[in-house]
Amino acid sequence: MQAPIFIGHEIYRHSSYGGRHPLRVPRVSTVMDLTRALGWLPDSAFRRSPRALPQALTVWHSPAYIAALQEAEAQGPAPHLRGFGLGTPSNPVFPEVWRRPATSAGGVLLAADLLRDGGVVYAPAGGTHHGLPDRANGFCYLNDPVLAMLALRRHGARRIAYVDIDAHHCDGVDLAFRDDPDTLLISVHEERRWPFTGALEDAGGAGTVFNLPVPAGFNDTEMQAALHELILPRVAAFRPDAVVLQCGADAVEEDPLSRLTLSNRALWSVVAALREAAPRYLVLGGGGYNPWSVGRAWAGVWAVLAGAEVPDRLPEPAEAVLRALVWHDAPRSKPVQPHWFTTLADAPRPGPLRPELRERLARLAARDGP
Ligand SMILES: [Zn+2]
Repeated sequence: MQAPIFIGHEIYRHSSYGGRHPLRVPRVSTVMDLTRALGWLPDSAFRRSPRALPQALTVWHSPAYIAALQEAEAQGPAPHLRGFGLGTPSNPVFPEVWRRPATSAGGVLLAADLLRDGGVVYAPAGGTHHGLPDRANGFCYLNDPVLAMLALRRHGARRIAYVDIDAHHCDGVDLAFRDDPDTLLISVHEERRWPFTGALEDAGGAGTVFNLPVPAGFNDTEMQAALHELILPRVAAFRPDAVVLQCGADAVEEDPLSRLTLSNRALWSVVAALREAAPRYLVLGGGGYNPWSVGRAWAGVWAVLAGAEVPDRLPEPAEAVLRALVWHDAPRSKPVQPHWFTTLADAPRPGPLRPELRERLARLAARDGP
């Protein structure tokens, strides 16, 4: 099997959604810099993401929306673009509003191509799981997970297991595949949080959707339970040709947009556990709005995939990457911690397996289906 491939691009380095938007922070560039500083990302493992052509996106997005997105970048905000969700506080018209998502989409399309005969690909710029066919939604302009899964299928992966551990429910991916018996959708997300979809009872049209809403304070012990009682048995029983993992980092405790309290090790354990679940494995990014926690978490994801050992204390070049990060208007609730500069792995955050979670897992385990 081919060595794991990392897909990235320099466009993310200076691109910002602007102002006080949560996506004013660098993310993918941090992961590229950290993994290179640690000696984990040789040129042979790196692929520069191509930009998707407009016609490659209309397999799921409407041509009118794709045209609107290009127009937004060329002309700036305009009243008629708001019908496409463009130019709202969540989905601003920023300078790379077409090129950036088209690059992320091109990255996952390349990933699907690279996975034709099996392998492991990491595309941390991917994971925009809220994108809708004809409008921007929840910071997501294109839905690259959907585009990736459609491309994997074109390349021969019929049965696809999509696992999403972002703090938010994957409403766009759900819309695309909720009635498809050849797609298993598993989402672990914070309860009573936007977009307010993904109810425990919602099994999709084909009974292949498994939603685990989790309470605030979701801890590493509870994630282990979700992994071993829900994710792994369902994926194994489904016998997928490909696994797509959306590994949003916003369920990590330091993130300002959720109230979940995982360590980054909990994310890494999911990444590692799914590695052998299918011949093709695509790992995407997703949410993550604290520049340190998202950079550290996603660099560690690559360590898992590439078989690199995470040191207890970072060597100086990697520490320098983290010390150079700036978080303008950082929320006072998330003060900078010294270990964000000197380590990659968080201390484990175990806790009780709460009765409501135990009960939800039991209800999901009792369901028929794949
Ligand atoms: Zn999220």
